[in-house]
Amino acid sequence: MIDWPQFLKAYGLTIFTWTLLPTLLALPNYSIPAAIAGALFLLFYSYAGHVFAHSISTVFPLNYINMHVSIHHDHLITVPRWLNLIIEAIVDFLCFYVLILIQSALGIHWISTSAILGAGFLYVFIHIFDFSLFGNEQHKEHHEKTFCNYDPEFFDTLFETRCSPDTPYRDLSGESFHALCAFVIAFALKYRYKLE
Ligand SMILES: [Zn+2]
Ligand SMILES: [Zn+2]
Repeated sequence: MIDWPQFLKAYGLTIFTWTLLPTLLALPNYSIPAAIAGALFLLFYSYAGHVFAHSISTVFPLNYINMHVSIHHDHLITVPRWLNLIIEAIVDFLCFYVLILIQSALGIHWISTSAILGAGFLYVFIHIFDFSLFGNEQHKEHHEKTFCNYDPEFFDTLFETRCSPDTPYRDLSGESFHALCAFVIAFALKYRYKLE
């Protein structure tokens, strides 16, 4: 049962900024509805992609091929922690970059390139800096139990995949700052390289 007042209090600002910034990035090349749809897709993709990556990687050979599982989670391939985090940052970012490659291979332009880059930077900032370097209880639980706390937490709440569903919702307002940093870099790239 979702506690909606608490849901909005804990996640509202973050959902707003995480949707607004990629939407702004897509303008004026995309219409406002298309820009918002792209932003919401990217938001959901960061959760669903993680769920999908774990669900298909429980058996050989995908548990080895998927470096998020083989290196970052299960240490089937052991590397020093600093290298683990660098590889994981690259894997996280590539999961977004692949959307740019798919769109260009298919000749479709449904989601703004700069918005995809911004979402990739945001994912790396949160996962590597916040969760891995500074530590985060929820993410620690994800590493212990794997099939819960996929993050962003508002999707775990909506789809009932929180590891500890009886605990209060975590106030994510601080993560708006990460979005600001990630999307400022994406804005710079957009104007420097004239991305859409
Ligand atoms: Zn992790
Ligand atoms: Zn994971």
